[in-house]
Amino acid sequence: MTSAASPDYDESNIFARILRGEIPCKKVYEDGHALAFHDIQPQAPVHVLVIPRGAYVSMDDFSANAGDDEIAGFFRAVGKVARMLEIETDGYRMLANHGRNANQEVPHFHVHLFGGRPLGGMVRQPG
Ligand code: AMP
Repeated sequence: MTSAASPDYDESNIFARILRGEIPCKKVYEDGHALAFHDIQPQAPVHVLVIPRGAYVSMDDFSANAGDDEIAGFFRAVGKVARMLEIETDGYRMLANHGRNANQEVPHFHVHLFGGRPLGGMVRQPG
């Protein structure tokens, strides 16, 4: 069951609008817990976003407030999407930005899946 949205959740954020079908996306996968679609500005040959259907601002909100079934369903979907994209053999990076220090742009929890080439070091130093 999806719990009530955090008061900090902005219902007009772009991913909420995609979930409501108000704007299009290049869909990869969907189920009862998650929607996956191609990032509009890909940073690797494979760059897909996976978002939960529930209204969660970020990883912090999701991990604290989502139900066990939502969390399990979401992360099962992330793994399934990676296998659908066939990036699990050569490897991929899963990344979630939370808040200001991580430059989170869209305030609806999402996981980036990057793959299709060697991805280099884990975190670039600020320059
Ligand atoms: P983050 O900095 O983790 O919040 O990343 C947000 C990501 O959403 C960025 O990689 C954007 O390119 C991507 N993005 C923004 N708008 C759209 C959209 N309409 N469809 C697909 N990806 C989007």
